[in-house]
Amino acid sequence: MEVNKIRIPNMKYEDFNDNEYLEKYVEELQENGVNVILGKLSDFINWGRSNSVWPLTFATSCCGIEFMCVAAARTDFARFGWEVTRNSPRQADVIFVCGTIVHKMAPVLTRLYEQMAEPKYVIAVGSCAIGGGPFKSSYHVLKGVNEIIPVDVYIPGCPPRPDAILYGMMQLARKIKVQDFFKLPEQPQISEPKTEDETDEHGDH
Ligand code: SF4
Repeated sequence: MEVNKIRIPNMKYEDFNDNEYLEKYVEELQENGVNVILGKLSDFINWGRSNSVWPLTFATSCCGIEFMCVAAARTDFARFGWEVTRNSPRQADVIFVCGTIVHKMAPVLTRLYEQMAEPKYVIAVGSCAIGGGPFKSSYHVLKGVNEIIPVDVYIPGCPPRPDAILYGMMQLARKIKVQDFFKLPEQPQISEPKTEDETDEHGDH
């Protein structure tokens, strides 16, 4: 690869002071057979981020078993750098919401989300997390976690197969790769979960 001009978007070539030095350095490296890749720092960071997404250990019911299968040998999400599950939300990048969330559990989920460091992501796994699933008509079940926290990827199914979960993970990795790391969107405000009375008022029962 021949490098003619060092170019970084949003900064003019002339604005750099060390262009000659940098070009000479690249030339020297190439003469010695070293490959040099130039690119955006954001892309480089995102390459690392998207290949080392650490999930929070969190599950409330059956979809959690499928999540465990994703970690096991057949699906093995370690291939994509996702295997470092964390027990503390402060060390996690993504929360997989696996299972039914009842109104009593909703504030706990919100708190866990709030405790995660930014940038953070949410994957809703299965129909319960997406919209209440088979328990949608129950008075005590949240009709979708997007009522309380922002969701990045939805994985449908009851439960979704491990390969579907893996596919959803890959969608999140794609999303991370195209983000501008230095201009990440602000996290939306967290909504207070609806009380049972409010839920009844809207006829969601
Ligand atoms: S979506 Fe189905 S498998 Fe998953 S937690 Fe709900 S009932 Fe269980």
